[in-house]
Amino acid sequence: MPIPFPQAFTERLHLTAGADTPVLLDALQGTPPVSVRWNPYKTQSPAQGTPVAWCRYGRYLPLRPSFTTDPLFHAGAYYVQEASSMFVEHLLRSAAEPDGARILDLCAAPGGKATLYATLAGGEGIVVANEVIRNRALTLADNIRKWGIGNTVVTNNDPAHFAGLSEWFDIVAVDAPCSGEGMFRKHPEAREEWSEANVQLCAGRQRRILSDAWEALRPGGLLIYSTCTFNREENEENVRWIAGELGGEDAGVAVPAEWGIQESEADGIRCFRFWPHQITGEGFFAAAIRKGGQRGRPVRPKPRKTLFADASRSETAELSRWVGQPGLMRFARIGDNLYGYYAVPFADIRSIGEHLNTLHSGVCMGQLFGGRLKPDHSLAMFHDLARSAAAETPLSYDDALHYLRREEFSPQTAPDEGMNLMTFEGYALGWAKRIGNRINNLYPKSQMILYK
Ligand code: SAM
Repeated sequence: MPIPFPQAFTERLHLTAGADTPVLLDALQGTPPVSVRWNPYKTQSPAQGTPVAWCRYGRYLPLRPSFTTDPLFHAGAYYVQEASSMFVEHLLRSAAEPDGARILDLCAAPGGKATLYATLAGGEGIVVANEVIRNRALTLADNIRKWGIGNTVVTNNDPAHFAGLSEWFDIVAVDAPCSGEGMFRKHPEAREEWSEANVQLCAGRQRRILSDAWEALRPGGLLIYSTCTFNREENEENVRWIAGELGGEDAGVAVPAEWGIQESEADGIRCFRFWPHQITGEGFFAAAIRKGGQRGRPVRPKPRKTLFADASRSETAELSRWVGQPGLMRFARIGDNLYGYYAVPFADIRSIGEHLNTLHSGVCMGQLFGGRLKPDHSLAMFHDLARSAAAETPLSYDDALHYLRREEFSPQTAPDEGMNLMTFEGYALGWAKRIGNRINNLYPKSQMILYK
């Protein structure tokens, strides 16, 4: 028996969907499409599936496979992401220059859009992926590590804490917590949590987050506002508020008619609506908004405390062995751990680390013992890990699953004595250490597969 839609929701839906309401409600009772986004830093061959029109790396799959039992999923070769959300790629490519940009994703967990922003920002850019709820921020950090680009900082702050980074970012994304009407197909239980009061509560909270986002955005920069809900209060009305109260302007994004995305307008700003009966994806709303004014010289906030110490010469020599292009990187020590960062955004990353509650940044390389690196899982996931640095043990499918479940196992290919990179079909999964006949499975507990 499907969970019924709240009556007040269907009544209100007429205000936005009009005569399409019955066919939309039908679509919301159907089977959600399945889509993934490939990681171009780790794979060249996203061959399977049908392309998602608005995202270079997005693919629809004909059926929902078991992602949990696919080692490539755990290797960060792809991210399972609902297709409409991938539209933020089109907004960024059309209205900004994401390559090399400073990007802030204020509401980032579990990391669908943040991993996409990291892909677009590249090694000279930086993505600050922030999540206010601690447990969700930890999951976000796991997903960012797995994605393995090395250009992302994960923070666990209230949006108000970004005041110290005033006008600092080129692009700020607010994928706001919302009433979730667009997810009523994928997560039917969300229908039971819906209420008119919650719509109003969400709309108010979204404005507070948007004020903080606006403060962090530089003049001339781009704000991406998105929700996964249908009502106008959380969507066009908030965009109207951004235009009226904050002075936001239309960023001039155009969308081909054949994509099936519906356009609306709020005080001169174009808004994009994804209706599940018109496109293949869940309900989604997005707008790209320009902050007016001239771009000034970006001012780096004054350091408050120094967490980062430069790695010494001998530390740098050992760490350089573990990455493919050490010349592009800087190494630093934070406490006992050593980290690798792309050299270009390094000073920016240091400022962030000194201003915010940072859970993860760059690539955690590991710890040194007697001058030799004990590599961290983050380094195994890094796309530019030097494969020559440690022995490699290719695993069969069954052994890969034993490894990912942290079970005891004897790989068909015997690992060398010492640290080994466990791989499946050439993709790195993590570390294991062989000591005599024993194999210590070093796969992180927080990410292990929990069921058979
Ligand atoms: N961008 C994410 C992605 O693509 O995977 C999804 C983000 S989800 C729609 C909204 C996020 O905002 C949630 O992770 C939620 O915990 C967070 N959130 C909740 N209250 C918040 C607040 N007051 N300020 C900022 N973020 C908040």
